[in-house]
Amino acid sequence: MALSDNPQTIAQLLERVAKHASTKFDTTDPQQRQTLPQKPFPSSSSALLQSEDANIDPATRAFLSLQLTQRGSGLETTVEELLSRIAPSIANSAGPRYFGLVTGGVTPAAFIADWIVTTYDQNAILHSPEAMSGYSVITEQAMMMVLDLFNLPREQGPRRPASEYGEAEEKYFRAMTTTGSTASNVVGMAVGRQWLGIHERGVDYCQDGYDGQVVVVTNMAHASVWKAASILGIGRKQVIEIPGMGVTEGGSEETFENEIKRLKQAGKAVLVFLSFGEVNTGIFPRNTRRVAEICKQYNTYLHIDGAFGIYARCSPKYEHLADGLELAHSITACGHKWLNVPYDCGLFLYRQSLEKSTMEPLFSSTAAYLQPSDTPFSHPMNISIENSQRFRALPVWATLRAYGRDGYKNIVEENCRFAKTLFDWMKLTRPDLYTVLTEDCPLNIVVFAQTLQKEEDPQVLEKKNADLLARINDTGVAYFSPTVWKGRPAIRAAISNWKTTVELDWEPVRVMLEEQATALRE
Ligand SMILES: *Cc1c(COP(=O)(O)O)cnc(C)c1O
Repeated sequence: MALSDNPQTIAQLLERVAKHASTKFDTTDPQQRQTLPQKPFPSSSSALLQSEDANIDPATRAFLSLQLTQRGSGLETTVEELLSRIAPSIANSAGPRYFGLVTGGVTPAAFIADWIVTTYDQNAILHSPEAMSGYSVITEQAMMMVLDLFNLPREQGPRRPASEYGEAEEKYFRAMTTTGSTASNVVGMAVGRQWLGIHERGVDYCQDGYDGQVVVVTNMAHASVWKAASILGIGRKQVIEIPGMGVTEGGSEETFENEIKRLKQAGKAVLVFLSFGEVNTGIFPRNTRRVAEICKQYNTYLHIDGAFGIYARCSPKYEHLADGLELAHSITACGHKWLNVPYDCGLFLYRQSLEKSTMEPLFSSTAAYLQPSDTPFSHPMNISIENSQRFRALPVWATLRAYGRDGYKNIVEENCRFAKTLFDWMKLTRPDLYTVLTEDCPLNIVVFAQTLQKEEDPQVLEKKNADLLARINDTGVAYFSPTVWKGRPAIRAAISNWKTTVELDWEPVRVMLEEQATALRE
């Protein structure tokens, strides 16, 4: 099949797709608030492998046994399949009642900008010689807006060469995009280790190799912290979790300080990875300023993983939780979660003094065919994991341009209001049905379980929790994901979608939760 499709045909197909996509933005349509996919495929998850199943209609069977063909079936057939078979089979995880993981959705501005990104397919690998291509300027603006959204100090005016920075400018931050918070954590850990190599061990790890002397100290961390330690060869076992570190639940800053002292005496260099917004509960460190003071005293590197928690800084009601953020060397934030831009987009925020001194030696990639021009700021490929990369900053730019500070304040506050409504209902109105597993609901996450009528052993608890969750998710009214909190199998709801409102979503969710737990109890 020829690849050169007629532009008119393409225009017509795009129009169809646009119409289809626009239904996703009709926030008054009840169907768009459901979470379940329709079932254009057989429901059995092994159906892809078992297309001989007698219940499958012949057309679906033929579709499921598809393999690479010699000629291809052409654009029109493919678009038909995309719209009629594939799209309806995808869960509405960008919808307003999808509370699993921390997913977020896509704002209209980010959505449209992302189409432009694909249309032009600009490779965001190098800045242009003049450093004035649209992509460079917009990336720069988008990253400044990100820093302003989080109220982080940044340099005003045009960028200057790093060599011109004075001591006083050490406090300024810069930002770049990554593919997600896991990638930002990998970058943060790599930068932290390189920094510790130079400042603590007197070894340039990126030239001479790693001596195995860095430990990562963390509190209630996200699983990706262990993954990062594994990828980088630091080792999962070198990640030490301390209940202290000024985290609200258990431990104290003193526990933290004592552990750092002990590690330093044992000759280790310490990389501190602080969670800002624990994933099961949204809990923050109690006193980040004190933690940062201790880090400074013992010359540790401080990275803060604020994937979703950093958004507390968008609202005067919640910003106190994320106090002290600016004391970190580097920070993880997520774009595809609470910023509501499409996958994949993570953000890495860093002290600008790290860019030339630590990030460039670590990430730069040189080859004869890559001729980076001399710009006052680093080329993306020289400070990040990727060489070639998507113009991820454009949807970020568009959504911040379109909705501004107030737009994000409103999203964060409304999402948190929803979480608090759910939390209060479980705690105060229906404690007979549901038990919330935390004292409070600080931000946008609620962790809960079915209220027990009597003591149960762990296996029974696990099964009961799984049964309840399956019932809830099978309704299609809302989607939650499982977790374990303090040893108890539980369910969690993370509210992070721009479309979610108490007004439109609370009542149906409440009724459904009441029905499902009541049915199981009887
Ligand atoms: C989600 C999350 C991550 C991982 O983010 P991805 O974008 O899925 O890679 C890391 N840390 C925290 C705190 C998170 O919530």
